[in-house]
Amino acid sequence: MIKISTIVVLGGGASGMIAAVAAAYASEGRINITICERMARLGRKILATGNGRCNFTNVNASPDHYFGADPYFIKAALGEFDVGSTLEFFRGLGVIPKEEGDGKVYPYSDQASAVLDALRFEIERLNINVRTGFDVKDIEVRKRGFRIVSYKNEAVCADRVVVACGGCASPNLGSNGSGFKLMEKLGHRISDLSPALVQIRLKADFLKALSGIKVKGKVGISVNGRISHEEEGEILFTDYGISGPPVFQLSAFVPGHKNAYIDIDFMPDYEINDVCKLLKQRAAKLKHLSMENFFNGLLNKRVGNVIAKCSGIGKLSLPVSELNDDFIGIIAQNIKSFKVKTDGLNGWNNAQVTAGGVLTRQFNENTMESERLRGLYCCGEIFDIHGECGGYNLQWAWSSGYTAGKYAAQSIAQSLSTIEDG
Ligand SMILES: Cc1cc2nc3c(=O)[nH]c(=O)nc-3n(C[C@H](O)[C@H](O)[C@H](O)COP(=O)(O)OP(=O)(O)OC[C@H]3O[C@@H](n4cnc5c(N)ncnc54)[C@H](O)[C@@H]3O)c2cc1C
Repeated sequence: MIKISTIVVLGGGASGMIAAVAAAYASEGRINITICERMARLGRKILATGNGRCNFTNVNASPDHYFGADPYFIKAALGEFDVGSTLEFFRGLGVIPKEEGDGKVYPYSDQASAVLDALRFEIERLNINVRTGFDVKDIEVRKRGFRIVSYKNEAVCADRVVVACGGCASPNLGSNGSGFKLMEKLGHRISDLSPALVQIRLKADFLKALSGIKVKGKVGISVNGRISHEEEGEILFTDYGISGPPVFQLSAFVPGHKNAYIDIDFMPDYEINDVCKLLKQRAAKLKHLSMENFFNGLLNKRVGNVIAKCSGIGKLSLPVSELNDDFIGIIAQNIKSFKVKTDGLNGWNNAQVTAGGVLTRQFNENTMESERLRGLYCCGEIFDIHGECGGYNLQWAWSSGYTAGKYAAQSIAQSLSTIEDG
């Protein structure tokens, strides 16, 4: 069969790979499909996802779990290729899904490589051309279609282009923000960009003492004494601040607030009065101990010691018998609301996703095609859309990528039938 038309997908990450596959399905082999990827291999980022296990979707995916100027833009694509279709698609490629807490879905083998390999094998089966080491420098608009040029001056022509270059997060895995420059040059507006789903840096001298500790608790962002957002889960202390799923979720709310504090509740199952009562009972029973061991069995020991010090206990050798009600009140307050000033966020190198991106209002939500430049499609993280931690970002990559690939192929089929009819 002579293939007379070409779709070129720029970026071979999650959204680009599925876009190419969807285009191949929709064109039934009649269209040439090429993926241009700047790295030496496809899908490097997928291998790093979910701590190497790839949390590839979430059964609760809906616009409520996404951020951006217009999170409802995703609704149509999420309907076109929903969580059920995603699970069916990967199941069809041999990846058996396993659902864990909060609707997170992983491959049953617990290996991110399973997801990447399944996509790679399907790309191979469908005879999709893959050009790795092809770092796209420019997209030239031609009378008929596009010419894509690399930094090494290689060129490839296309009737339709799908831009799936990702954002700026974790540039060592491929996405270095170059997609934004390409889109800007083609007349598209990009909103402010900032790292999201990233660790929060703190200003505190006790960080070294807590570094490496994981605790379950509730963490909030407080500005001018008011907590604006809260998340519960496992908090990891590091020598620069805090990390962990609830912290990643909150990171989107830190930029822009110079006076933001994190506010940790180390005992979210207890009201402050109950914590006070409990501490008083312990103080009465454990008189023979020093403060260093007062929290044993209640809080992580190192956390307990930091709370004691921050509550004004000068020396941890102080006998518990010397604790008075005032100190107990302050300690209870610190256990329930431990405030530490934030010091910004870790940067792009540590971020999982990009907040901000190509403004969605310039695109058709049903097809992912640009309203400003016909024949140009976008998908994935390059858009001003990012999701919560928990499989939502990959689901957006699958849904938007599938939609862009399918409709890019269909629009070629439509234009060909118009020519034949004419
Ligand atoms: C450490 C980490 C863990 C994560 N864990 C999860 C998780 O468990 N679940 C979840 O849902 N999400 C997770 N994410 C987020 C998720 O991986 C991304 O949102 C998703 O991969 C975005 O897909 P994408 O195709 O839009 O972009 P990317 O996956 O970033 O792919 C873009 C591709 O385009 C290529 N490219 C860029 N510019 C050019 C150019 N000029 N020319 C040619 N090629 C180019 C890049 O090399 C890259 O391969 C994680 C992210 C990170 C960094």
